[in-house]
Amino acid sequence: MMAHRLGVIADDFTGATDIAGFMVENGWRVTQLIGHGPADVPAEVDAVVISLKSRSCPAEQAVADSLAALARLQDLGCDRFFFKYCSTFDSTAEGNIGPVTDALLAALDQEFTVICPALPVNGRTVCHGNLFVNGVPLNESGMKDHPITPMKDANLLRLMAAQAKGLPGLVDYQVVLAGADAVKAKLTALTADGVNYAVLDTLTMSDLTVLGEAVSDLPLVTGGSGLGAGLACYTTAGQGAKHARALGAPAAAGRALVLSGSCSLMTNAQVAAYQQQAPHRQVEVASCLEDPQAYAIELADWVLDQPASPAPMLYATQAPEQLAQIQARYGVARASEAVEGVFARVAARLAEQGFTKFIVAGGETSGIVTQALGVSGFNIGPQIAPGVPWVRALDKPLSLALKSGNFGDEQFFAKAQEFYHD
Ligand code: ADP
Repeated sequence: MMAHRLGVIADDFTGATDIAGFMVENGWRVTQLIGHGPADVPAEVDAVVISLKSRSCPAEQAVADSLAALARLQDLGCDRFFFKYCSTFDSTAEGNIGPVTDALLAALDQEFTVICPALPVNGRTVCHGNLFVNGVPLNESGMKDHPITPMKDANLLRLMAAQAKGLPGLVDYQVVLAGADAVKAKLTALTADGVNYAVLDTLTMSDLTVLGEAVSDLPLVTGGSGLGAGLACYTTAGQGAKHARALGAPAAAGRALVLSGSCSLMTNAQVAAYQQQAPHRQVEVASCLEDPQAYAIELADWVLDQPASPAPMLYATQAPEQLAQIQARYGVARASEAVEGVFARVAARLAEQGFTKFIVAGGETSGIVTQALGVSGFNIGPQIAPGVPWVRALDKPLSLALKSGNFGDEQFFAKAQEFYHD
């Protein structure tokens, strides 16, 4: 029997990495694409993840992007699909989760799916169809004041009814407690009643394995990364992550570099800790603006002159007061673009010189460096810190550790270097 391959359409980059990480930790081998990715993915991959920037965009755009992603995933051999959105269902009545779900159902010639945003390990639960954040109804949580998507209702059936064309229904917690067969029977009954979207009550991570079993045959499911964990856990029968992580683990061969372009509190602490352990050099904004080309060569030459291990560090990281001064002097956008441009040039130059591993701090910085290195997709490897895996490029001998702002603890840069293997 041909194994099934799941195609995941995630509504933002962090969400994509999030669900990919949960699936790997539950035993699935996962490839994540940048844009539309390379021509092909490894044969043994269980799931392919595409990330969009559709969370807050108008429904029409989100639908078009999601349908294009669906077609791309079908090309790559996926035969089941997962629309991944945030566990806080960041979507008001004008939101696009309903329209995207309707469009994906229509494209797959289906009329029924599930709505499962719960992520109990992060305090997101669903009971009687209502979404809770750390035990507080969504519309009483911090999400009620979200700048882009203020959530004024916690009831997922009403939220779907307001956005989508079809009929919502509920799989109540009593049914989930009765097990996967009971959930399947309930889903069949709801379908017979003309329900299009079944909201799934979920209070614990192990409920998600029950639900993963119950929905594993559906052509389309929708939800948060918790359901991704449940699906992987059910289909690999808890076989564990070791095998799955190996596909994305960083190789020992070749040198490594730490690039820090984040100014978050945690990154400042990480840079300070790593300054005690490895050769380091500050990236000056004035020099980045003056002659980025020459400065990038100077920095790359400095890196080449340092011992290989521990990996040398280039950092633009500044404490909040200094950062404010720099930004006041040069302009926020101008300063950050200059820094990003130099990091991109340094990374590209050192990759040409045989560097194989880049440990990068900063969400935007990570995006720029990944782009400069020409990476079109990667396999997800072992987690250095929660939510930050090593990833290995598909089409080049390159591994990346991409850490946004506050992720990881103080020893992150040193810890990342403990994962190399032959
Ligand atoms: P985070 O994940 O912490 O938000 P990002 O990389 O997304 O980190 O954003 C940090 C931004 O700050 C980047 O655009 C980076 O170029 C910019 N930056 C970093 N260091 C400096 C600096 N010394 N002066 C001005 N801007 C900087």
